[in-house]
Amino acid sequence: MKSFAVAICAPSGVGKTTVAKRLIEGGEELLFSVSATTRGARPGEQSGVDYHFVSRDEFDSMVTNGELLEWAEVHGDLYGTPLANLEAAEREGKLLLLDIDVQGARQVMQARPDTVTVFLLPPSFDVLMERLQARASEDAARLRRRMETAKAELRSVQGFGYVVVNDRLEDALRDIRAIISAERRRLDRQAGEVEELRRRLLEELEA
Ligand code: 5GP
Repeated sequence: MKSFAVAICAPSGVGKTTVAKRLIEGGEELLFSVSATTRGARPGEQSGVDYHFVSRDEFDSMVTNGELLEWAEVHGDLYGTPLANLEAAEREGKLLLLDIDVQGARQVMQARPDTVTVFLLPPSFDVLMERLQARASEDAARLRRRMETAKAELRSVQGFGYVVVNDRLEDALRDIRAIISAERRRLDRQAGEVEELRRRLLEELEA
């Protein structure tokens, strides 16, 4: 099967990072795409695991050298997907799971139209507010900024391949796994394997 990327997008607070982590743990043969960012590490975050934490200069040179599949400014910091992540997934025969913002997803749709794009929606705006307020790591100004971004992002669903409502986490995970499972079976993604199987079946028939 040809490797492909799966981009999960959602307004801040919908639970995209939890969903991405659970999908990776679920052994779906997914490789988490570790992004580069100029944002500082939060307590508990590890460099090379959650993000590659880089300086503004380092980020700028990644952009200049064409090392990023996409990049965007989110909440005042820069975030980008190293192209090397795609190559690593291809090498390992895995799918690359991207946890990126809407601007980044649009760039990926252009650069890699075979990418599966999933937009997660909250069941209601009230739930979204509650989830954002429950985040201890945010000060009031950052929280307000995230709510504004979330409102704008709710309008950005256009152009995505799939929409999943994250009401109950387990249901959302089941839906996304089903999407990935169906996408793996697209003929254009497994043309080589299908041809091989067809040849074997015909040989069997003729034997
Ligand atoms: P956070 O700072 O909360 O980890 O992430 C802020 C936002 O940046 C989230 O919406 C996250 O999905 C997004 N993000 C993380 N990595 C990337 C990336 O490589 N590219 C883009 N465009 N957005 C990213």
